Amino acid sequence: MRTSLKSHGCGELRAEHDGQEVTLAGWVHRRRDHGSLIFIDLRDHDGIAQVVFNPKEAEEAHRVASDVRNEYVIQVKGRVARRPPGTENRNMATGEIEVHAQSATLLSPSKTPPFYINEETEVDDLLRLHYRYLDLRRERMHRNIVFRHKVVQFIRNFLSERGFVEVETPILIKSTPEGARDYLVPSRVNPGRFYALPQSPQQLKQLLMVAGFERYFQIARCFRDEDLRADRQPEFTQLDIEMSFIDEEDMLKLMEDLHTAMVETLRPDLRLTKPFPRLAYAEAMRRFGSDKPDLRYGMELVDVSDLLAESEFSVFRDTLAAGGVVRGICVPGGAGLSRRQIDELTEFVKTVGGKGLVSIGLTGEGPVEKLTADDFHSPVHRYLRLEEVRAIAVRIGAGRGDLLIIVADQEGRASQALDGLRREMARRLNLIDEGFLAFCFITDFPLVEWNEAEERWDAVHHPFTSPKEEDVPLMDSDPGRVRARAYDLVCNGWEIAGGSIRIHRRDVQEKMFSLLRIAPAEAQERFGHMLEAFEYGAPPHGGIATGLDRTVMLLAGERDIREVIAFPKTKTAADPLFGAPSTVSEAQLKELHIALRPEASISKESS
Ligand code: ASP
Repeated sequence: MRTSLKSHGCGELRAEHDGQEVTLAGWVHRRRDHGSLIFIDLRDHDGIAQVVFNPKEAEEAHRVASDVRNEYVIQVKGRVARRPPGTENRNMATGEIEVHAQSATLLSPSKTPPFYINEETEVDDLLRLHYRYLDLRRERMHRNIVFRHKVVQFIRNFLSERGFVEVETPILIKSTPEGARDYLVPSRVNPGRFYALPQSPQQLKQLLMVAGFERYFQIARCFRDEDLRADRQPEFTQLDIEMSFIDEEDMLKLMEDLHTAMVETLRPDLRLTKPFPRLAYAEAMRRFGSDKPDLRYGMELVDVSDLLAESEFSVFRDTLAAGGVVRGICVPGGAGLSRRQIDELTEFVKTVGGKGLVSIGLTGEGPVEKLTADDFHSPVHRYLRLEEVRAIAVRIGAGRGDLLIIVADQEGRASQALDGLRREMARRLNLIDEGFLAFCFITDFPLVEWNEAEERWDAVHHPFTSPKEEDVPLMDSDPGRVRARAYDLVCNGWEIAGGSIRIHRRDVQEKMFSLLRIAPAEAQERFGHMLEAFEYGAPPHGGIATGLDRTVMLLAGERDIREVIAFPKTKTAADPLFGAPSTVSEAQLKELHIALRPEASISKESS
């Protein structure tokens, strides 16, 4: 790109520029000193060009090139020339040409970087984040951040063309009920009072519907004080959407059209299924043990409880007697797993909430109905009747050479364990088609779930999600069976969006609050502004929010959202570059009317 200091981007030069005088400026990516000739790969935002310094042609430039080192910033004037035949580099966009330097200026020297910029080597995470500006210079990160921009730009264009208006909403706001812990900001001018950073713009976008903006979106920053994982950051970005006068179909169609067009435009090399499959929550749980199933491979969960009620294996019998279930998956070709590999799986299942597993490897030839006692191996072989093993194998659809993995537990835990095992086996056995984006919608979520610890119902989505009209009467009699008008978009086993049709009637909203044991006074205090707004003509409306970081991660083929965020936090919510969070001065605390508790002061000293 042309600026006052350069005529072209390094990566823009092609054979057609042969003979042109150019001025380039950028970083020394690599330098090769061949005695007389010096070659520098010069890198800038657009790419890399090879510059040749010949002392016979430009003595002074050659002297500058002798002194520079990797990551120095230089400006070079020179002439573009085709590379001598046989020395072209097909792997480089600019590989047909080189620039013969006429003059060179050192603009800025560089210390030796703590890791290679010109190689994609493994670097410690903390070091990468401490020197993020150097990490972002590396090709992969640079590409990811540019790609992220393209995704956002695509979304903005797509929605704007469809009549959506982007509206910014405040960051200093009040607690919103997304279910995570809030980040709080003390108010200096209102002693003892705090803002909460938005966990999402949920209430604001609903108020925008009441305000008559029928199609809202926002690339919105959200804050949730949660324990962090590969797919979570304390601050993250949502594509937040809300629409009026819609039902579920409108929203699912919009999401499907957006994501399909986005993939076809930005990642045409990836495949996806059209239309996106839809699964009711209950079906997803039954078949995959998860409401975010990875549909890139099979290994569906199968219930075999009824086949094992009389089992001699007490774990099966006792679990069933206690109201639990016995379920399994078939791992194709898994019979050959070693004893040690099975032990590893048994350890693994404990990390995903299970207590253990029973493996049954099927060997020999012919239909599984004809299995003999010698045709299967299992650590609990002697407790398993041949008839049972045959029946399980038939039910699960296993063949010879396959491995059955059986889990006996309470339903929730069994689902969780088998979901984890399914994902782990797919990974271990390379069953994952990386060229495929398996999108699907999950619908018909339950409205509420029982909170054992606090002995009350919690909203599965949030308290503004509408129940299905026909299920409203169940809110009194059997709340656990009420289905919500909620939907998620899932891709490759990740939840990438969630939303719902909202309650727009005050009476239903109050019923919901009372079900969640939010007393009228508390409802008034927390959501009085919403309830009041709903009395001034609230249109039926609904919305969704997608986790933009996750979407970009999946489209970019990354496995951690930090690879697509310019300045992410560590897993302990810290920023090693700025050294945040940090202590603050007594004077600042005083201004904010805050006194630290003794334990906080201790952590302050030790940090
Ligand atoms: N605010 C919700 C969330 O962040 C999404 C929605 O219902 O639109 O999960």
